[in-house]
Amino acid sequence: MFFNTSAAPKTKDGIAKFLTGHPRYQTNSGVHPLTSYSHCVKLHRLGLNRSESEKAVSIMQSDDYWRELRGCLRGFQDDMQGRYQISPMGRNSGHLVLFEAEVYDPGYKSTCRQCGHLSNQLVSPQSSHCGECGGLRSNLKKPLSWSRVIGSGIDHGVTYRDMLDWSMDDLRDRLDLVRAFDSACDITRSAFIRLLNEFMLIEQVVMVPQTVKRLERIC
Ligand SMILES: [Zn+2]
Repeated sequence: MFFNTSAAPKTKDGIAKFLTGHPRYQTNSGVHPLTSYSHCVKLHRLGLNRSESEKAVSIMQSDDYWRELRGCLRGFQDDMQGRYQISPMGRNSGHLVLFEAEVYDPGYKSTCRQCGHLSNQLVSPQSSHCGECGGLRSNLKKPLSWSRVIGSGIDHGVTYRDMLDWSMDDLRDRLDLVRAFDSACDITRSAFIRLLNEFMLIEQVVMVPQTVKRLERIC
């Protein structure tokens, strides 16, 4: 694979070297900058051949190529039971970064069948229509589970020497997480290359201003 290159280290020394030598990216711009595990996914760093690179420049002009790739990142989050997520950061989303995350219920009780607008109110005879478009609302069958970042500095400032003081179990757990992250970046890169081979950019002139609507699974 491309990002997941070597066999998993087995010794404390090997794991600590692997983790502290892993690429990192700055995740905030405050007075106290934090960093987390990352991979650079800029075009010239993806190991593409010339024709793939040329095609990539055109594909990336489309508004929805990221939507195709987001499923790969979502797969990682699901594998991690929502405790970690990968988000693109930087100019042109040039870096994939590992974050601590959590799944939470945003508290919505109902949704509009027509426009998808979410509401905190249960449907009642007095309020069965959407305030946005007038469409009929229905109650959600179960609470939504959204995810949010709760930590953006995984192992920030932790040195090789610090890691040697960790227990072997803690080191192995962290190694497993970061290697799963590397694999997810590989899967995303492969999906991007597949996209280059399977899609072409279609230019479409849209004559009317449009609101783009996104589907959120409700049951
Ligand atoms: Zn509506």
